[in-house]
Amino acid sequence: MNPSIKLGTVWGIPIGLHWSLLVVFGLIVWSLGGDWFPEEYPMLGPGLSMALAAVTGVLFFASILLHELGHARVAQREGIPVEGITLFIFGGVARIGGNASSPGQEFRIAAGGPAVSLVLFLVFQGLFMLDRAVPALAAPSEWLARINLALLLFNLIPGYPLDGGRILRAAVWRISGNEATGWKAATISGQIVSLGLIAFGIFQAIGGDVTGGIWLVFIGWFLQNAAASESAARTMQSQLSGVTVADAMGVVDEPRVPSRLYLRQLVDDYVLARGDDFFLVVDGDLPRGVITLADVSRVPKERWDWATVAEVMTPWPRLVRVAPETSLLDAMRQMEEGGFGQMPVVRGDALLGLLTREEVLRYLRVRAGLGATA
Ligand SMILES: [Zn+2]
Repeated sequence: MNPSIKLGTVWGIPIGLHWSLLVVFGLIVWSLGGDWFPEEYPMLGPGLSMALAAVTGVLFFASILLHELGHARVAQREGIPVEGITLFIFGGVARIGGNASSPGQEFRIAAGGPAVSLVLFLVFQGLFMLDRAVPALAAPSEWLARINLALLLFNLIPGYPLDGGRILRAAVWRISGNEATGWKAATISGQIVSLGLIAFGIFQAIGGDVTGGIWLVFIGWFLQNAAASESAARTMQSQLSGVTVADAMGVVDEPRVPSRLYLRQLVDDYVLARGDDFFLVVDGDLPRGVITLADVSRVPKERWDWATVAEVMTPWPRLVRVAPETSLLDAMRQMEEGGFGQMPVVRGDALLGLLTREEVLRYLRVRAGLGATA
């Protein structure tokens, strides 16, 4: 979920919006300003209803952001970094850069968001009690109190990846003393909840509430996907624990080219003749950089006769290097975050080889194949 609009940072955490949120914002303004406000508070009039609906929509997203900041702040205090918060069509997500190391820590991070939603509910409910006589204040505060209560209750449903599922995971972990048992309980409950939401949504749609039903089906489907990708990531993590870069590298013996080579020669003699698409640039024993087919294709063809590899390659100092002892998971994370297709593997100044995405994928496939037959 990559944010398309960056809002700024809070406590060092980048906050972003995904474009899909604008769709929900439109729906909220339209249904509040066109339906709910005029029905509950007819004295407002259509213009004021719409304006209030827009303000209410913004406060609704602020509520979601505060909920996520609740999780994020607790995580930071527990010493776990937070990579960012994104608001999107189904709410918000705080990307926590690590797993809790104890059930208590997991519980506190999971409870941080709902605690904020509870406070927001109480604040808006209190405002509503005070400002009942003023429709322009009462209408937004009544709706915001309700929606924050709904957010609180929905998030407490005990199905992973909802907060309630995380709390369940912490509880099972604490009682059983086993982290894996906690994960299993959270995953199973997540499956039940997401499939339940989908089934209930279909039931509702058949019963006549088509929009509400479809919405529930989408939320269930989203939760199902999030739980499945989390459990796939966990399976990979446990399978790859102890695997190093040295285990995965070297499947491909990457071709080496000198830096003074002209691009035309590189294309004719290496790319077309052998079908290779990336090269280590090495002069004697000295590594100079890396050049890929994508680098070459950015140079206009008419310049290939006189442009050299050295001018186009990614130079050695700009490449992020790994040691053969580095864990493969760490190296993959670095590749993912930096958007690199390959990383030179070095010991001291000596170049041992190149770890590429293709190699990592091939390695994972082979391991998966071995796992399936064993
Ligand atoms: Zn939450």
